Amino acid sequence: MKKRLSILLGLSTALLAQVSLAQYQIIPEPANIKLSQSITKKLNIIQEKKNAQLGPEAYKLTLTPKGSIIEYSTPVGKSFAIVTLEQLSDQLKTSPDGIPTSIISDQPTLPWRGMMIDVARHYMPMKDIKTLVDTMHFYKLNKLHIHLTDDQGWRLPIPGYPKLKTISSKREEMEGNKTPSEGMYTKEELKALVKYCADRGIEVIPEIDVPGHNQALAAAYPEFFCSPEPGLKVRTTAGVSKDLLCPQKKEGLKFMGAVFDELKDIFPSKIVHLGGDEAPTDKWQTCPLCKEARTKKNQKDCHDQMRDFFETMTQMLAKRGKEPQFWYEDNASIYKKGQTVFTWRMGKTPSTIKHTHEAGLKLILAPGEHCYFDYPQLPQHNNRGWMGRITLEQAYNLDPTYKLPKDQNDHIVGVHCTMWTEYLPTMDQVLYRAYPRAMALAEKGWTPKESWSWDKFQQKVQAHKPSFEKRFNHSLERTPDNEKPFK
Ligand SMILES: [Zn+2]
Repeated sequence: MKKRLSILLGLSTALLAQVSLAQYQIIPEPANIKLSQSITKKLNIIQEKKNAQLGPEAYKLTLTPKGSIIEYSTPVGKSFAIVTLEQLSDQLKTSPDGIPTSIISDQPTLPWRGMMIDVARHYMPMKDIKTLVDTMHFYKLNKLHIHLTDDQGWRLPIPGYPKLKTISSKREEMEGNKTPSEGMYTKEELKALVKYCADRGIEVIPEIDVPGHNQALAAAYPEFFCSPEPGLKVRTTAGVSKDLLCPQKKEGLKFMGAVFDELKDIFPSKIVHLGGDEAPTDKWQTCPLCKEARTKKNQKDCHDQMRDFFETMTQMLAKRGKEPQFWYEDNASIYKKGQTVFTWRMGKTPSTIKHTHEAGLKLILAPGEHCYFDYPQLPQHNNRGWMGRITLEQAYNLDPTYKLPKDQNDHIVGVHCTMWTEYLPTMDQVLYRAYPRAMALAEKGWTPKESWSWDKFQQKVQAHKPSFEKRFNHSLERTPDNEKPFK
């Protein structure tokens, strides 16, 4: 049979075997590949076509012995076709006899494939963030979520609030390392980042975490908070601060209005991530203003007050054409129907999928046991006594369907990984933790389930190592001792 086929196609048996055994090393695995029985050594684009039938991120790539034909309906689709060609050209360099010809028809399964970078715990220079964006685009991730504020630093300038720069953006050290840290972006830098990302099909989602995670702000403007300790400083340890914005203080609300105005000016995305996580309400409980307001508004507890606070923030955003997202805190009733939340707490995702579905919320998956890529990735790595360890295989084990029927998981819109930086002071350290796990996330967000293969994925990661290092000046080797420690 093989011989007859080879005679029919005019190919030698050896060459046919080579073609049929050959596999592309594309990450994420394309949705559909129809191999044709010839090979090519030419990947240059010989024809470009607009194809209105393709979705916004879709592309069609026809590889022929003479070169490539690309089809797309948007610039993003075109850029993804080119990324696939770049990956194939890396492969061609190690396959001197050529690679198979084919028709690749490709589009993502999930519309949201994101990465969060925490620039609050450690300031990251813009040029380094752009390197991260380049890697994201190479693996077709399409949302950059930038965590701009936290207890340990504030990175967004707001006109009229100069102490954000002189106080909130600076820290004496981190967990005894005696290394001062500071940094603030300019509006122009952030706008340039938005443009850089847009050119690569990536939407930038800013996060301003409220009402908690705000000790850096409280150090500069204690008057926005219920009862901050006198002399409070920008936090120098990990953990959760008890200082929450006081929803009853008009100057704090005015400040949030100024923040949202600035976000509207810089970020074209309709979305503002409002955090909303890890906000212990001890101080709301005892604050006389908060107590009085709860009585007046007939709120039975701080949970009611939190719902009311989120509603106020949501309305302020709506006035500026924006909508919020939140880190889900195991209480669906606090959010409004139609809002989008992220599941993140270890082990909570199955129950969160159920509760958010019942509440009519949209859900993005960032479960701690699969997607917290700031956690160590090798069993030997120090987990500081509390972090999970997520191997590449565990990252690849994420199944965004959670094996549920469509009518129970149709509110899941995407997958997301987090790069928290309490212990990752440089982009080199961020990239070390992000990769190769972000390649697994990219495949799970893009590729249809029937094409997932852990074995093939591992081979592809191996094959990508030399080209990743060349393209991004960062090695993908992960051994128990080749990570730069945090001091
Ligand atoms: Zn208060």
